[in-house]
Amino acid sequence: MNSGFNALGLSEALVRAVTELGYTEPTPIQQQAIPLVLAGRDLLAGAQTGTGKTAGFVLPILHRLALTPPAAGKSRHPVRALILTPTRELAAQVEESVRDYGKYKKSTVAVIFGGVSINNQIAALRRGVDIVVATPGRLLDHAGQKTIDLSQVEVLVLDEADRMLDMGFLPDMKRVFAMLPKQRQTLLFSATFSDEIRALANTLLKDPAAVQATPRNSAVEAVSQKVVLVDRGRKSELLAKLIAEQQWYQVLVFTRTKHGANRLAEYLCKHGVTALAIHGNKSQNARTHALSQFKTGELQALVATDIAARGLDIEQLPHVVNFDLPHVPEDYVHRIGRTGRAGATGEAISLVCADDKPLLADIEKVIRREVPREIVAGFEPNPNERAEPIQRGRGGGQQRAPQRQAPKREGSEQRRSSQPAAGKSPARAPHADRAAPPSRGEPRNAPRPAKARPADPQRARAAPAAPAPRHDASSTVRTNIPGLAPPGHRRGR
Ligand code: AMP
Repeated sequence: MNSGFNALGLSEALVRAVTELGYTEPTPIQQQAIPLVLAGRDLLAGAQTGTGKTAGFVLPILHRLALTPPAAGKSRHPVRALILTPTRELAAQVEESVRDYGKYKKSTVAVIFGGVSINNQIAALRRGVDIVVATPGRLLDHAGQKTIDLSQVEVLVLDEADRMLDMGFLPDMKRVFAMLPKQRQTLLFSATFSDEIRALANTLLKDPAAVQATPRNSAVEAVSQKVVLVDRGRKSELLAKLIAEQQWYQVLVFTRTKHGANRLAEYLCKHGVTALAIHGNKSQNARTHALSQFKTGELQALVATDIAARGLDIEQLPHVVNFDLPHVPEDYVHRIGRTGRAGATGEAISLVCADDKPLLADIEKVIRREVPREIVAGFEPNPNERAEPIQRGRGGGQQRAPQRQAPKREGSEQRRSSQPAAGKSPARAPHADRAAPPSRGEPRNAPRPAKARPADPQRARAAPAAPAPRHDASSTVRTNIPGLAPPGHRRGR
């Protein structure tokens, strides 16, 4: 077998597995990362979902584990590689990739996250696994119950490290690091590099090599973006109209809050659009079920918060709607990067009311372009509508956060009463990834989210900040939605 993967020094079994998955050439991040990881180097990698980063660390880890027997120690079958992820969905996807890529290897893998029965995980760990993919909270639960031994981990991967910090996992991560041997290989993957990430890298990595995924097609360029100006109170109505009139059959809608997601999904259902919400208050089974229905086309609209949507790999999504704009401009780039994959035309539409305009300005600064404005006939915004601060409570708990404020950890809304008083940091915060067991009536064994595989995994990164483009209000296009024509109907893929 001869492919670009052979040249990277990977074993035949791994090359065969990726070839069967249809990968012919390594992506840029794989080309850079794989030889370095094979050589045993620590790595600081700038890459986000969609760049092929998972194979960038999983393939060389599988290769290295097969080369050397586990070190002799107290545990008969020690965990040799630990991959930490911020969300359950990402953990499930990474685990599935380990299984796919390791199809012809002997290494075993288990996934560990909250929201599902801990007993099945304990059983899997007892049988012995080489690779554990975990979210930090549930991993600590296992460590507390002594159902996992991390003392012989040879490789640690932090996947989406920036998001783990955003979600407030740093204290838990530090507890996990304290259980690992000092002598190990550490790989840190992050889409963005804040001071906090750099500080983490400085403490964790030894003489790291730095690699950066530079996507061929940035989502910002590949995706057709529009802003539709509308009054605050008419966004739901407008969205239902657009979905119906434009016959959008698969649209991912982003809201800022879990309550907002629920309310919108309910509204859409009442108005003839099949829709479900996914967020951290939903059980893992409910989230997995919604995602698989969405992927098969049974569900027209999936309404998600950023954190719930993080790590979802959905192929060639034709439409992404920002019902609310994100507080963090880079999240806009991540959101729109879910459409326009694999050379397909994608459309990202942001519904913008007076409150959202400062957020839009921040986004345009980061993407270094002005997003064209449109107004849909019958939905002309009231020019006198005054911007309201986006605060908790209005419209079901929306909050205008200062720039770069960490998004609230999912699952915390329901548990607010158990939070310590402001100013006191909790000894151990409540965990999104240790959420409640599946609700009654749901099967206890959650199926893993179905995996989709875009042919072209090149994805976007936010461009560096530049001065905000000036938006001239007169450039707003008035339309009777012709500008929102669907980019070809792709039902039945
Ligand atoms: P990731 O960034 O790891 O989430 O990968 C994004 C998608 O790209 C996944 O669906 C992978 O299956 C796919 N992928 C990864 N590497 C390649 C490759 N070399 N060629 C084609 N697809 C790939």
